[in-house]
Amino acid sequence: MQLLLDLHPDAYPLSGYRRKQLLEWVFVHGVGEFSAMSNLPAGVRAELEAEYALNPFKLVETFRSTDGSVKYLFTLPDNRQMEAVYMPYLDRKTICVSTMVGCPAKCAFCATGALGFGRNLTAGEVVGQILAVARGEGLSPRDLRNLVFMGMGEPLLNYDATILAARILLHQDALGMSKRRVTLSTVGLPKGIRKLALEDDLGIKLAISLHAPDEETRQRIIPTGHANSILEIMASAREYQQVTGRRVTFEYAMLRGVNDSVWQAELLADLLRGLVSHVNLIPMNPWEGSGFEESTEQEMQAFYNVLEARGVEVSVRRSRGRDAGAACGQLALKQPGAVQAAAGA
Ligand code: SAH
Repeated sequence: MQLLLDLHPDAYPLSGYRRKQLLEWVFVHGVGEFSAMSNLPAGVRAELEAEYALNPFKLVETFRSTDGSVKYLFTLPDNRQMEAVYMPYLDRKTICVSTMVGCPAKCAFCATGALGFGRNLTAGEVVGQILAVARGEGLSPRDLRNLVFMGMGEPLLNYDATILAARILLHQDALGMSKRRVTLSTVGLPKGIRKLALEDDLGIKLAISLHAPDEETRQRIIPTGHANSILEIMASAREYQQVTGRRVTFEYAMLRGVNDSVWQAELLADLLRGLVSHVNLIPMNPWEGSGFEESTEQEMQAFYNVLEARGVEVSVRRSRGRDAGAACGQLALKQPGAVQAAAGA
């Protein structure tokens, strides 16, 4: 059965005010069933129900962190599992969505990478995470105003579905999110970054997971990164910045004794010279068996100071949801049989 959420809002069934009503039920009221759409005639509801699925997930479990973040674990129709994270802040509500089950990028410090690749999510399965989390939190989907593509998976390797999902969430008739509040995070794929800038200029923010300024270190922690040199990544970042006018964010997970030396901070500052950018230092979130440790506060501060002294815009991003397994790179289905579930076995 076709998932309704896989459709672009312009392609929704029904027309005129019936279409508006349907879109409102889905994206404003966030209902999970056609039967709840009380102002649609029973016959129309029955037809929709015969042709379309509305909610692609079963909610398995939520994990609540003491900082208010909530990790949602879902089962997909083919029994695979994946996760989304809700992060309430004082001034905004943010959702972190997955674009894949598992991930092929295999970053050495990332727990999702250790799961391997399951499959791509469809656009509707990406958008569905917003609706399901809103339902779980008793909110309208439109209350979730900030979105980051930073969950499981590499969005630029599931390009078409990610772009369609972004178009749906920006569309006025759907979620009506502001492009300034949507961030796509990528492991750093120059072709995809260029395509995003030149062919699908959605105006959304771009974050690049650089994590090291030198090839040797980067290839050690991002083994699939050898296909794209740091210089190519930087060139595509410059192009994205020039075409979109947006400041590019660079993510940098601080791994103790691996990428946190002063010389690496100096090299990073050199790479960023002349680029309107921002560096996010993220204390690495340790997980059992990763083989990496987070840098100490002093090491982070020293690294920060070097960047700041060289005029780099830099901040430290404290991950939320660490105690609920919901922090950056911790999404790894902390469940018995997780790897099999990711693989749909
Ligand atoms: N594939 C995309 C988006 C998902 S990962 C990407 O690579 O950007 C989101 C961010 O979390 C990335 O910057 C990733 O490198 C980071 N991350 C992964 N594991 C982490 C960990 N254990 N600690 C801190 N950050 C981590």
